[in-house]
Formats: sequence, structure tokens, C-alpha cells
Amino acid sequence: MSRIVYVNGEYLPEAEAKISVFDRGFLMADAVYEVTSIINGKMLDFAGHAARLARSLGEIDMKQPCTIAELEAIHREMIARNDLSEGLIYLQVTRGVADRDFAFPDVEPSMVLFTQAKNVLNAPLAETGMKVISIPDIRWGRRDIKTVQLLAPSLGKMAAKAAGADDAWLVEDGFVTEGTSNNAYIVTQEGTIVTRDLSHDILSGITREAVLRFAAEAQIKVEERPFTIDEAKAAKEAFVTSATTFVGPVVAIDGIEIGDGKVGATARRLREIYLAESLKSAI
Ligand code: PMP
Repeated sequence: MSRIVYVNGEYLPEAEAKISVFDRGFLMADAVYEVTSIINGKMLDFAGHAARLARSLGEIDMKQPCTIAELEAIHREMIARNDLSEGLIYLQVTRGVADRDFAFPDVEPSMVLFTQAKNVLNAPLAETGMKVISIPDIRWGRRDIKTVQLLAPSLGKMAAKAAGADDAWLVEDGFVTEGTSNNAYIVTQEGTIVTRDLSHDILSGITREAVLRFAAEAQIKVEERPFTIDEAKAAKEAFVTSATTFVGPVVAIDGIEIGDGKVGATARRLREIYLAESLKSAI
């Protein structure tokens, strides 16, 4: 069955949906995006994703394509039209269509949404844990803006694949910034969760915010500070968070097993809490 996608106000079969060759998202990666998980036909953390989209747009002086209420209605319509029970909705806003020029044109933004049916709840890597490699972070300096400039993370995923691993952690000036498409965490031998503090260096994960809140509520100590790969290798546990992975355990870094090389208790517990709480508040 062909999907129904959303393009600039229209719901169309995917084969009929079109975006101009002159769209700045295509020509210049002049675009931002969001990914929201869907479980039982409901959106997880929609308010957080909508708020971050508005922030990303504001940071690069791009017009808001619609109100948050309209955005929510479009998401709901996409779930209904695609009969989506489990998976994700991808949303992209570009600066719009204009003759190629570096200066921003005064045009209306383009907005595209599509759905992906996917088994997000019982993902195999949540059970086995993932192996990561460390690689230099070659991305630009405003990683807090969720732009579609995803070539560096794609290269990182390919390097991981070539090394027989599942993902890569990015390292800058000796410290881990984040994963290619997730925030990175370790759990020290004392049981403290450590994850890099928010700045322009990393994306402020919507899942990160929720997981840190749940960790604090569960009386788990949290330190927001940079950590090194050596500290990670000596940690009791490691994990990542993202909207589609939720809490994803990491069991090896650069071929070194973390802890006993199995999914850690903290990661398992936080995944359970995150899913239970997010499902309760899903809309
Ligand atoms: N960092 C990066 C670089 C990402 O691409 C993502 C996924 N969007 C995240 C962190 C996690 O963010 P979220 O929890 O909002 O999905």
C-alpha cells in the first residue's frame, strides 16, 4: 500500500508528491526536521518536538509554517490516513523555493510529512544492546539546531557498519558529544548517570529531557558534564536516547565490553519507566 504523504497543505499518494528542484532544503540543506514516535496510533512527546521545531526555526530565521495546533492536527490526519499504529512521523520544514542564492529569500516555507511503520517497541537492539565505535565529530558548530545536514552522521553510521558495530559516538577535543542520532550516556561504577551538558555542541534531545526527569524522580544521581571514551570504557553501563530508540543500551565501545557486556540494569529500568510514562501521556 502506497503511503499518503503531506506536502504544503495537500495529502497525496507518495508517488504523486512533488517538491521543487529549487527548494532550499534540497539545494542547501536549508531545512529543519523532527521525528515523533507513534505507539498504538498515539504520539509520544509531541509537545516537546513541536517546541523544538519552533526553536530550530527561530534560530535560523525561518518562518513558522503553521501553528502548533495545526501541526498537531496534521500529525493526527497522517496517522489516520496511513492507519499507523506503530512507527514514526517525519516532519521537515524548508526555507522554501527560490532561485539559488546564499542570501535568504523572502518566500513561504515548504512543509513535508511522511510516516514510517516500524517496530519501535520491541526493537532487537533494545534486547541485545548495541555496539558503538568512537569517531571524530566532524559536524558544524550549531548541533543544537535540528537541521537536515545529516551527511556527517551518515558517514559515522557507515564507519560503524564497516567496523561491525551498530552506531558511532562522536568525539571532539577528547570528549564525547553525542551519538550520530542520539544522546550518549554512561553510568559510573557508583551508579551516577553522566551525559554531556546542553550547549551548541549537541542536540537537546526530547527523550533526554524526559529520561533525566524520570531518573531524578527515581532518585538516580545525574551529572550533566562531558566524559571521555576512556571513562565510558571503564563505566558500569552505557546507553543512548532518542525519539525512536527510547533508551537504547550500549554494551561495547571500540570493541571493549562495558560492564559485563550485557544490557545494564539502569538502562533497562529507564527504558521501562520512559515507555510507561510516555504511553500514559501520549496523545
Ligand atoms: N542527537 C542527535 C544528533 C540526534 O539526531 C537525535 C535524534 N533526533 C538526538 C540527539 C536525540 O533527540 P530526540 O530524543 O529528540 O530524538
